[in-house]
Formats: sequence, structure tokens, C-alpha cells
Amino acid sequence: MKENILEMERYANEFNVPIIEKESIAFIMRFIKTTKVKNVLEIGSAIGYSAILMASSSPDVTVTTIERDETRYMECLKNVKKCGLEKKINVVYQDALELNLSEDLRYDLIFIDAAKGQYIKFFEKYKHYLNPHGVIITDNINFHGYVGESSKIDSKNLKSLVEKIESYIDFLKENKEFETKFYDKGDGLSVSVAKE
Ligand code: SAH
Ligand code: MG
Repeated sequence: MKENILEMERYANEFNVPIIEKESIAFIMRFIKTTKVKNVLEIGSAIGYSAILMASSSPDVTVTTIERDETRYMECLKNVKKCGLEKKINVVYQDALELNLSEDLRYDLIFIDAAKGQYIKFFEKYKHYLNPHGVIITDNINFHGYVGESSKIDSKNLKSLVEKIESYIDFLKENKEFETKFYDKGDGLSVSVAKE
């Protein structure tokens, strides 16, 4: 298992796959253990790194993870098998904005870690699948330190992306249904708890 994780880190490094930072996944694994999360929905599997670590954080946690890129999906399936986690991780090959999950599914934790420009869309679409007291965690809220600095960015694409993350942060801060805390862990995490 340790060796598989190291191999995934090497692969991510070599092929520029943006896997979660160590500090952030450690935070999420602790969160899963202490709040007794039983099932997780992840948007953006990449090669399965975070899904595998979340599934390993407690004996009775299961993960459904969605990935739209075929190469990454295949790599994710391969890694899940290597780790012997096929029973705990369900990998779905689809665009998360097009997928129709069964209406009755509910999750304790939804982890948003896909296209950074679409965070509000993911949040609005998937919040209905939370259990009462469920939590939505989002990664890359600081986006390499650019967030909050968008006015100083010259590159058009980067500026637009960072502005979208800034809008997502405002959306979370103003959200009446969720109470959000922001954590300076890794590339920045937000933790949004559904209110009563
Ligand atoms: N959670 C992973 C990293 C995910 S990187 C980890 O930490 O190990 C983000 C991934 O989201 C990419 O592989 C990208 O292909 C995928 N993605 C982006 N938009 C998506 C969408 N709309 N639906 C499904 N997957 C998406
Ligand atoms: Mg990420």
C-alpha cells in the first residue's frame, strides 16, 4: 500500500497530474475518522490518489469517485485494483455535470476537486445528495496563492480561473444553507457544513 502510494506520487509528478497536497489529504483523513464519515462522493478522481487515501482512512468508509478523462479513469481503476480496494471504491467514468446519480443516494462527505472554474455548479448540483449534517470539502481554494490577487495577474486564462475561485469563495461566504470555514492547508481547503 505504502509503495503504491509512492508510485502514484511519482506518476503524478512525471505526468503533471494535480493530486492533492499531503497536508490537505491528512486533514481530510482525520476529518473522516473523527466525524465518522461512512460514505464519500468525490468529484475529480484523477488517478485515484485521494480516493484511495480516503477509503483507507477508516475500515467502514466507501468512496464513489467521478472522472471524465479516459486515461486518468483507466489509471484510477488500475490503482484501486492494485490496492485491493475495489469493494470500497466505485469509479465512475463520466462528466460530473452530466451524470445523473440515483435520486435517493446520500453522502456524509462530498469532496469537490475537479475543474476549478465550475465549483459553484458542482456545489449546487451535488448539495442535494448530502445527508443531514453532511459536509462539502473543496480543494485548491488558494490556487497556488493567486486567490485574492487576481487583479495583479496578466495571463488572461489564469486571471479568469482565479476570479472564478474568488467568486466561489464569495458564494460560500454568502451561502445561507451552509456554514463555511476556510483552512490554509496545502493549496487551501473549504469545509462547508449544512445548517439545520
Ligand atoms: N482528487 C484527485 C485530483 C483530481 S485533479 C487527487 O487529489 O488525487 C482534477 C480531476 O478532475 C482531473 O483529472 C479532471 O479530468 C477531472 N475533472 C475536471 N472536471 C470534471 C468534470 N466536470 N467531471 C469529472 N471529472 C472532472
Ligand atoms: Mg486538488
